[in-house]
Amino acid sequence: MNKNKNRQGKVIFSEYLRGDGIKKAISLKREEILLELKTSKLKGRGGAGFPTSTKWMLTAASISDEKYIICNADEGEPGTFKDRVLLVEYPELVMDGMVIAGYTIGAKKGIIYLRGEYEYLLKSLQDYLNEMRKDNLLGKDILGKVGFEFDIEIFLGSGAYVCGEETALIESLEGNRGEARNRPPYPVNTGYNGKPTSVNNVETLATIPHIVLKGAEWFLNVGTDNSSGSKLFSVSGDCAKPGVYELPWGTTINELLNLVEAKNTKAVQIGGASGFCIPKSQFDRKLSYEDISTGGSVIIFNESRNMLKVLKNFMEFFVEESCGQCTPCRIGNVKLLEGVEMIEKGEHTFTYLNKLKDLGKTMQVASKCGLGQSSPNSFISILENFKDEVLNYSNGGNNGRI
Ligand code: SF4
Repeated sequence: MNKNKNRQGKVIFSEYLRGDGIKKAISLKREEILLELKTSKLKGRGGAGFPTSTKWMLTAASISDEKYIICNADEGEPGTFKDRVLLVEYPELVMDGMVIAGYTIGAKKGIIYLRGEYEYLLKSLQDYLNEMRKDNLLGKDILGKVGFEFDIEIFLGSGAYVCGEETALIESLEGNRGEARNRPPYPVNTGYNGKPTSVNNVETLATIPHIVLKGAEWFLNVGTDNSSGSKLFSVSGDCAKPGVYELPWGTTINELLNLVEAKNTKAVQIGGASGFCIPKSQFDRKLSYEDISTGGSVIIFNESRNMLKVLKNFMEFFVEESCGQCTPCRIGNVKLLEGVEMIEKGEHTFTYLNKLKDLGKTMQVASKCGLGQSSPNSFISILENFKDEVLNYSNGGNNGRI
């Protein structure tokens, strides 16, 4: 996989020297950075696509003696591994992005919430932070900017998928069970320890130093009207060149499949287990906020795969990972998995499957957090887009691999 990295991207993988973004940022006023970010139209790269400038403006505007910037490195979506690549190979982008965030919103402390399974990265990241301290890129009066103080610590998660959701992540940081909070209040006002907190994805933070250094107009030249810049895609599954690719927003699925040399592709799961399964007839669709929005996981399935087994795998995952706090998600995912098992055994009826699809749609609006709101996506999209194959399974149809 190491051979198959597209390291010539137009934004994230463009040239950058450690500290350059910080130097530029501290020569500007906070308001100037916020305006540049707003002009750039940067949206959060974790999947939700919330405008980064709005999140930072709200946190900056909250009046408090303490504020926090949290880097969400709880990369738990199946099929996603681009944040790990950034942390291992481009820590200067992520850390500089955090320092710039601290300067802009007025926080003195940044916390990296590192996925429990990435424990093996802890030592190298801590060594990197120590180097930054030696170079006065962290600490007091950073790079001679009197009064600007900021440092970063790393917190190791415990492996719960739901902690990728920002309020569950904050609960976990505070030492509680990782469960989503009711909103409002939002973390920008009442976040970590009850203080204003901006939670940003690793990739979002890694994009910031480039925008600060090269400007919003440069960033807007990449991507589409409503999806500015580029996106990192973690590509896995049936292709000759899986890996991490930086592509401009607006790239079609067909273009991506050609790039990674995928053959006989039947389906592409965009956005991981919580995303959507796209059939061949729709491979001309664009990866963008206007069409198929995604946090970057792309799983490719060729003709040999059995989509019912794929779906069962996803639903088992959600039954396991639901925190159980709210009924639509706790019960709903179990019911959807039971439906898949009924199809396997040939015990389903069309009426019941339609009811399960309606249940999925209810879960999308009634669940408390993003996990339950998105877990029915693959159930609904696979049942709609691969109906014949899935329903043919119990009649001795394709019993291929998962
Ligand atoms: S949607 Fe699922 S994960 Fe989220 S709070 Fe409800 S039960 Fe927990």
